[in-house]
Amino acid sequence: MDIAALKRDLDGLKIEDNEKIVQQKSRDFYWYSPVLKRQLDTVSGDLIVSPKNEAEVVRVLAACHRHGVPVTPRGTGTGNYGQAMPLSGGVVLSLADMNEVTSISPGRVVCGPGAIIADIDKATRAHSGQELRLHPSTYNTASIGGFIAGGSGGVGSINFGGLRDFGNVLRLRVVTMEAEPRVLDLTGEDLHKVTHAYGTNGIITEVEMPLTASYDWVDVIVGFDSFMGAARYGNALGCQDGLLTKLITPIAAPVPQNYFKRHQRFFRPGQSICLVMVAPHSLDAFLAFTRREGGEVVFNTAAMTDEEKKGLPPAFELAWNHTTLRALRVDPSITYLQSLYPFPNQLALVEEMDAMFPGEVFSHLEFVRFDGNITCFGLPLVKFTTEERLEEIIRLFQDNGCPIFNPHRYTLEEGGMKQTDQVQLAFKREADPHGLLNPGKMIAWENPEYDYRSGRTYLFKGLEKVG
Ligand SMILES: Cc1cc2nc3c(=O)[nH]c(=O)nc-3n(C[C@H](O)[C@H](O)[C@H](O)COP(=O)(O)OP(=O)(O)OC[C@H]3O[C@@H](n4cnc5c(N)ncnc54)[C@H](O)[C@@H]3O)c2cc1C
Repeated sequence: MDIAALKRDLDGLKIEDNEKIVQQKSRDFYWYSPVLKRQLDTVSGDLIVSPKNEAEVVRVLAACHRHGVPVTPRGTGTGNYGQAMPLSGGVVLSLADMNEVTSISPGRVVCGPGAIIADIDKATRAHSGQELRLHPSTYNTASIGGFIAGGSGGVGSINFGGLRDFGNVLRLRVVTMEAEPRVLDLTGEDLHKVTHAYGTNGIITEVEMPLTASYDWVDVIVGFDSFMGAARYGNALGCQDGLLTKLITPIAAPVPQNYFKRHQRFFRPGQSICLVMVAPHSLDAFLAFTRREGGEVVFNTAAMTDEEKKGLPPAFELAWNHTTLRALRVDPSITYLQSLYPFPNQLALVEEMDAMFPGEVFSHLEFVRFDGNITCFGLPLVKFTTEERLEEIIRLFQDNGCPIFNPHRYTLEEGGMKQTDQVQLAFKREADPHGLLNPGKMIAWENPEYDYRSGRTYLFKGLEKVG
């Protein structure tokens, strides 16, 4: 790679080549996984380029294509599969400066890929009392482009499902990695080419997302004597058609007591909890339902003064992957898994898996709407001992009918459905014929013969030495 020649071609653009800063900006939250930490700790790009607009993105991609330099896009680097890490070095393309909210209308917002999700909501709320349908728990730090290219769902998925569902992304503008980069507007079926593709087949330069009515969501925490009490309540609450909630998160004791430092005074020892975000107009009916189901309301922001709420993070920052983050801050030996408990057996599966690893795996569920039904994902916390034991736990989940989306792998396929996504692959052939976008993340491109059933971990060339 002739980085010096590339830099000359990029004259006038915002470039950072200070080694320390480049390494810092070459990382994401990969260290959540002890496996990825071992494999990716030394990964770094050669320089950071921060385009201000689409024309500059086109210029960077054309120059990198000319010099054969890989490009790994980056929003704000909060992904936790090592997705934004440049395995072959080269350019880290930071989209953070392309953060403008350009238009808001009934049901839609158009913005740059680098817009922080909370900032989009701030603008749409002020404009017309609307907000995004769903967001990751990294609402306050993550970019919308990174969410679309690397995320899956989150707060709001109880009503709207995930990003993969038709209608949850309206339009994407994408720049291809060719001698003369093309700018494409993708809608409908075509969106599946680039959503959750880790930026391996195009750079998103503009997004159009659907909006829904916004509310001053009330955070409520409901306590139960048993984890299954919290899980059954969460399931029943999700099935209440008349109650508007945005988050339903059962978490097993002693996770709240041990790791939710700022909330722990609200919980009795041994109490499992369900975190809920509920719309203000649903609150009375929600409290009546909760009483009927035998839940104990231990925390309710609608009944608290500003003084009492001071210093407490919002409920969603205890949920989704923030549960793991809070546990990791207290106990660095904690890691996690991501599983699905398929409908209609979700509660039986939850009960079975919850009982299987006492003192080693701690249940954490997120109720979602999935293909029209209410079911739950799991983000169980795991007390890490060895990689072999972690693999065994994964196998036991899978053998019992709970698919694992493995957060200890950096490739699209191993972190997802363990099969080639033909739509993404075909688009990569067209949009990135030299394989320069985020190399190493799509096995189907690097090694079409790879056998996903082998049980081995795919290792990208250059990372093979770390094993
Ligand atoms: C504490 C914590 C909680 C989390 N909670 C959730 C959650 O609830 N739901 C969820 O889905 N995820 C969650 N995540 C993962 C992550 O925060 C989100 O997916 C987030 O939206 C990623 O945005 P980002 O800007 O940080 O993206 P990055 O990490 O910078 O990038 C993510 C991926 O997208 C690619 N990319 C970035 N920008 C572009 C672009 N413009 N064009 C093409 N490709 C691009 C990158 O190359 C990378 O592969 C969580 C992570 C942490 C650490």
